[in-house]
Amino acid sequence: MNKFDILGKYFGYTSFREGQEILIDNILSNRDVLGIMPTGAGKSLCYQVPALLMPGITLVISPLISLMKDQVQALNQAGIHAAYINSSLSESQISKALKLAAAGQYKIIYVAPERLETYEFMNFVMQVEISMVTVDEAHCISQWGQDFRPSYLKIVQFIKQLSKRPVITAFTATATENVKEDIICVLGLKDPYILITGFDRKNLYFAVETPKKKDAYVMNYINKHSTESGIIYCATRKNVDTLYDKLCSENIPVTKYHAGLTSEERRQNQEDFIYDKAPVMIATNAFGMGIDKSNVRYVVHYNMPQSMENYYQEAGRAGRDGERAECILLYSSQDVVINRFLLDNKEQRTEYTPEEMDAIRERDEERLKAMTYYCMTTNCLREYILKYFGEKGNSYCENCLNCLREFEEEDVTEAALRIIDCILEVRQRYGINVIAGMLAGDNRAKLREYGVFEYRSYGSLKDMNEVEIKQIINIMLLQEFLVQTRDKYALLKVTRKADEIAQGDTRVIFKKPKKSSDAEKETSKSKKASTKARRSDTLNSRGLELFEQLRELRTSIAREEGMPPYIIFSDKTLVDMCVKSPLDKGEMLKVSGVGENKFERYDERFLNVIWEYTGGVREKFYFGEL
Ligand code: ADP
Ligand code: MG
Repeated sequence: MNKFDILGKYFGYTSFREGQEILIDNILSNRDVLGIMPTGAGKSLCYQVPALLMPGITLVISPLISLMKDQVQALNQAGIHAAYINSSLSESQISKALKLAAAGQYKIIYVAPERLETYEFMNFVMQVEISMVTVDEAHCISQWGQDFRPSYLKIVQFIKQLSKRPVITAFTATATENVKEDIICVLGLKDPYILITGFDRKNLYFAVETPKKKDAYVMNYINKHSTESGIIYCATRKNVDTLYDKLCSENIPVTKYHAGLTSEERRQNQEDFIYDKAPVMIATNAFGMGIDKSNVRYVVHYNMPQSMENYYQEAGRAGRDGERAECILLYSSQDVVINRFLLDNKEQRTEYTPEEMDAIRERDEERLKAMTYYCMTTNCLREYILKYFGEKGNSYCENCLNCLREFEEEDVTEAALRIIDCILEVRQRYGINVIAGMLAGDNRAKLREYGVFEYRSYGSLKDMNEVEIKQIINIMLLQEFLVQTRDKYALLKVTRKADEIAQGDTRVIFKKPKKSSDAEKETSKSKKASTKARRSDTLNSRGLELFEQLRELRTSIAREEGMPPYIIFSDKTLVDMCVKSPLDKGEMLKVSGVGENKFERYDERFLNVIWEYTGGVREKFYFGEL
């Protein structure tokens, strides 16, 4: 067997994706590799395929129990002998697994880093040939990453104790230079072949929205996507709890996850989500590492995260199957305040010196700023993301809100001057809310308390509403005519650069989305484009009906076998099944994602559904030409 046979027979795919083949070839020639590829790129295959072609056993070190279980289930489904060793097993189960492993039962063994140094495990590895050690989620080894796991440092010791050095391979989606250096250095990779593939995820649609009522927005969104699975990320546990209660009371099948729940609750809720019993997960950023659920169709951020790194990682959990998915960030200026508060109250790590702490704080500030700019830019969002990660983007991706939306430009220099006046008049002692309220001439108690009516600037922009004024202030912050103090009050200050406006050297331009009648046109436009490449665009109505039937069958098989549905077949495979509508074994094997083993298990049941639906008559279930 060669790598292509394995790809087809076990995984049911006809071709490798970008980067996979070269990594596999290098591994097979016994060279260490480091694969840095975005989420969903297919990193697992890069070590699973060579693992089956190497003489001995491959150990895969992976940080999370759920991740291992998922991967091992998927491998077993594909007919590959694999097992995992971690603390979710009892001592006797571990002994049994290791005994079978020593007898050569498994080609691939997933193991938690904590297990490596145990006597039992060492004893086992001494009896067998270890061909490869793979470190998945390898960024966990770096103290620079947000997911640092001290136990990952044990890997090095472990490898040193092996009688023969195996090939060492490492994989991650984190591309920063620091992390890369750490991985190579700490793991002691020898002249590794390093592959970094593009970070663009073409199937993801990006949008930043600023709804007045986020709850209503979320509820509406979930209802519109009721047949789909998604994640809603919130900044705090409290936000998670409140939103969860609200959605529950509307009978929306949601579940939740945050560090305040017991580990049993977390396990259960995570499982409900993975098994599609509760298709919508509401969570803090504690949720998601090691969730390989491939059919997450949307990730909505209820609050702005602290950095683009966090955002892209979390949003990237959508659409791992390569099908279209949406990443929507709900922004409000309050989010900046929440995040600054969270940063200020971040746990002090004792291993850092005060200088290092300062450097970290500064870095966090910079990251937060870049994140905030993402929320405010009116240019292509994808381009912004790619640039941030050091890649070049197109200025027009056609698959983000900003590219699909029409803007109009307005010269707001006059308003900007009033804003500067106002800030100076109150001697730079107030934050954005007071300033905007004051300029709009608002009469709320808080403002009365500050005595703002006494000022000349009170009501000097009363033709505008507060939201508009805040938007202009934000533009001025973005362009650094204004800054906010870094304390929790976030007071507005005028910078030297603002002189340019006063002297008439610079004008302030506000690019805003078109309103009212245009808005309808715009939504239909963005709707049209945003459903592009969706299931409903590929499959015609007859095809969609067939898809639903196949999906029901998948759900019942999943229930029978106690497996997550996407491990049986991905959504993408089901769509391809509708497109090809196979009527016999040979045709079924041509469907992407149907390997021989899965075929033998399930082909009849799926073929039956197709036969029943079509009566054995050829029919076209998709639009256009393929
Ligand atoms: P990563 O670890 O890089 O985030 P995974 O290894 O979990 O990604 O793979 C993501 C999805 O891509 C899986 O559903 C996997 O089966 C699919 N996949 C991987 N390689 C291929 C391929 N060559 N052709 C089609 N699908 C693939
Ligand atoms: Mg992975």
